[in-house]
This record gives sequence, structure tokens and C-alpha cells, in this order.
Amino acid sequence: MNVYDGQRIAVMLEKHGLSQTENLEEADLIILNTCAVREKATNKVYSALGRIRRAKKTSALFGIVGCVARESGGDAFKRIPELNFVLGPQSYHKLPEIINNPDTKLLNIDLTGIEKFDELPQITKSPTLAYIPIQEGCNHCCTYCIVPYTRGREISRPFADVVKDTINAAKSGAIEICFLGQNVNGYKYTDENGKLYRLSDLIKEAAKLPEIQRIRFTSSYPTEMSDDLIEMFGTEPKLLPFLNMPIQSGSPRTLKRMNRPDDIEVYRNIVKKLKSVCPDIQISSDFIVGFPDESDEDFEETLNIAKEIKYINSYSFKYSPRPHTAAALMPNQISEQIKSVRLQRLDAQLNENQREFNMSCIGKEMVCLCEGDDKTKRHLVFRTPYMQQCIVEKPDGDIAPLQKIKITDANKASLRGEIIK
Ligand code: SAH
Repeated sequence: MNVYDGQRIAVMLEKHGLSQTENLEEADLIILNTCAVREKATNKVYSALGRIRRAKKTSALFGIVGCVARESGGDAFKRIPELNFVLGPQSYHKLPEIINNPDTKLLNIDLTGIEKFDELPQITKSPTLAYIPIQEGCNHCCTYCIVPYTRGREISRPFADVVKDTINAAKSGAIEICFLGQNVNGYKYTDENGKLYRLSDLIKEAAKLPEIQRIRFTSSYPTEMSDDLIEMFGTEPKLLPFLNMPIQSGSPRTLKRMNRPDDIEVYRNIVKKLKSVCPDIQISSDFIVGFPDESDEDFEETLNIAKEIKYINSYSFKYSPRPHTAAALMPNQISEQIKSVRLQRLDAQLNENQREFNMSCIGKEMVCLCEGDDKTKRHLVFRTPYMQQCIVEKPDGDIAPLQKIKITDANKASLRGEIIK
């Protein structure tokens, strides 16, 4: 989501005559696009702002946009008085106001609408992978999560607007699209005639576009995996056989206190249904270890489910208490030391899953999307349909971004392959 927001900000500012620089000292405008999901990310923002304050030109305007802006509000100006703007995730389209009035302080952390989508200029050149937001905010209120506070209540964008953005991305260079939302599979939009549209309708519409070869979406809430959506994995070849569907914990007791679906059988059944329509599907999850009052037994259940479902490409985090969340006030917070040990043990399991899956790919042929050069500039980096990284010797001359690749080698982090001529 932040990558997408960053791209839109860049296009908007180009329309105002600005161009991008990587060089802090020469910048006239410095924007930190921020994430508040864990405390570490928020702390990083303030240390970066301190560094920027010292290194920037005196005349340069600087500020923060996104979730830390929303969380800090006017307090950000108290912590760093030189800041020029603090704009929440639904109001970064107001950035040009600070360019037009550089002597003012701009604060807007309003979350009431999503008019930013109407006000932002359309992109004219899309990356091969285009992110298309279809929904903002979240109503699920998981007790650890700051997102409902920072991004607001759930709003689905009008179907016609999303289709327009998808066509625009396809016509301007996109080959893969990733529909985005905090609760993406909960997308629901009813038009003026009372017709209800869901994520499966968006996938069908996008699949009609010849330019679009790969479709995916993130991030999903398990019990929003409706049957129409599950079926798409069996019927729509452009929908990649890979799904991020976070479980967070394998312990019903912990899930209940997280305010998440706490019947593990429900998760198992969704996975079973997905595998029955698409036997090749792979599932990824996010995990939180050390949630308040998590016992050794609770944690063992998380390890067991990671092993059982064989999640690949997963993310794992130590629980981080966040302001405005219920879990931050719960008793029996877990020590950092225990969280670290649990994270290490979970990561060992997730790495083992990944290694096993990567090894099973050797000898297979997969259509992969090119992401560009690796650091050495001697290889190209591709993404497989399962989001694995695949490194390929760079051929002479230009090649099309989608290539059929034979996987020749693998380790736990990535694959190696050869382009099939
Ligand atoms: N709905 C979004 C939420 C973004 S947060 C999504 O599913 O992507 C991404 C992940 O961060 C969550 O799935 C969760 O595993 C983790 N996370 C959220 N709040 C957290 C917290 N307080 N401490 C640790 N990890 C957290």
C-alpha cells in the first residue's frame, strides 16, 4: 500500500513541476511516507526526521505522510518544530497546498472520505506490476492492530473506478496487477441500480484485458474467503496460484483474544477448498509471536500449524504494543527475551517450509515476471507465480518482461533458472 501511495505522490508532484532526486542535500521537498504497524517503524521515522533536519537545505520543506502522521497528529510539530506538513493516509493529495503556501504548517489527518482517488492525477506510465487499491481501512478490529485507527473504517471504491484504473494501468504498461486492500477479499460495492460487486467480479473484469497476464490480491482475511472467490482459483488461469491469508497464531485461545476467527477447523476447511479447486496453490501467512499471555503451549500450536499448512513466503513478527489498541492494555505482556526465542523458532520452521518448496521447484518450468537487474547487474531478477525470487543469467539485448523459465537450482532464499528460448 505504501509503495502505491508513494507512486501516486511522485506522479502528483511531477505534475506540479517537481522531479525526483535521491540526493537529500539537493531536495526542495522531502516526504517520509510512514508505517505505524509496529513501534520500531514509528521510532525509525523520528530518528530519520532528526537526520533529515540536519542534512537538508535550510529552505527545503519536509514532513510526514501516512500512518505515523495520522497517529502523531499535531504532536509531530511539537517533537520536530521545523516540520512543514503532517498528512494522514487519506489526505496526501493535499501536498501541493504546502508547495503553494510554504510559510504555513499543514496538518490534515482526516479519515472521513477517499476523495484522494478522484483528486490524484491518473498515471501515464505504469510499472509492469501495477498496484490497484480497491478498498481502504478495516472494520475487523483485531486487538493488536492500529490499522483501523490510522486508515479508518472500511470503504470499498466504486467498481467502475477500479475498472477504469485497471484499464489505464493495462494500457500504460502493466502486465501484472495486484488488487490492494487492508481487507481486500471483503471488497463489496453496490452501484446505483443495487447491483453488488465483489472481488471475484473485479478479477473477471481484469482478466478480460489482453495486456494483463497475472492477477493477485493482498491482504486477505480468512473468513472473507467466499466460495465465489475460492472458485476463481480453479477457473481463472490469470489468477496466480498463491494466496497471502494470515492466520497470525495457531492457538484458539490466543486467536480469541486477538479477536480473530478462533476455530482452526475453519482455516483448515478454507485451505482444503482452495486445494480442491487449485491443487497447485500455495498459501502464505503473517504470524505474531508473544501476544499478551501467550503460553509455551499456545506457541507450540503456532509452530504446529505453520508445519501442517506448510505456509511459504510468510512474515513473522514479535508482538508490538500499539497505541489505541486493546491488546496494549492486556495483562501478562510477554518479555522481549521470550518473544525473540519464539520468533527464532518460528522462523526456523518457516525457512524449512520455504527451502522444501523451493527445492521441489527444481526441474519445473514457470512463467515469471522480470523485476530488473540484480545488484551485480550481471543477472536478471524474476518473480515466479509463487512470488519466489528467481535469478537468471542476463541475456544479450532486450527481452520481454514475461518469460518461461526452467528452474535449475534452489536454496531457502531463492531459485536459479534459465530462460527457455
Ligand atoms: N490488514 C493488513 C494489516 C497490515 S499489518 C494486512 O493484513 O496486511 C501486516 C501484519 O503486521 C499483520 O498481518 C500482522 O501479522 C502484523 N502486525 C499487525 N499489528 C501488529 C502488532 N501490533 N505487533 C506485531 N505485528 C503486528
